[in-house]
Amino acid sequence: MTAQDTIFGKIIRKEIPADIVYEDDLALAFKDVTPQAPVHILVIPKKPIPKLADASPEDQALMGHLLLTAKKVAEEAGLINGYRTVINTGSDGGQTVYHLHIHILGGRQMKWPPG
Ligand code: 5GP
Repeated sequence: MTAQDTIFGKIIRKEIPADIVYEDDLALAFKDVTPQAPVHILVIPKKPIPKLADASPEDQALMGHLLLTAKKVAEEAGLINGYRTVINTGSDGGQTVYHLHIHILGGRQMKWPPG
């Protein structure tokens, strides 16, 4: 395990199982193991960017790709009434896995403000 590696690195390399719903050269989407809503999917880059604060200008196209992947995955999950997308960043943001990821949460009414 390298310094940058995380459990999501193992999922990308198929070293541990995950319920993968989408994959391409740049991104992977899989169901969250502890779902907080009827639909809870994580979209991650294959590039190991630890957190949003570490993304750089060279990641511009990749970041756009991740957001459009989230849209596609949400559509394929049937979330026609909408959904919540969340990126937790760092300790104050509540991030627990240091491999950038977009949460897609749906299938119930979301509340605001978040906790
Ligand atoms: P964070 O708290 O960093 O924003 O989100 C990390 C998410 O990863 C959590 O919702 C957690 O349930 C999920 N997670 C952690 N370990 C695993 C795993 O091994 N497999 C899957 N599918 N999800 C995981």
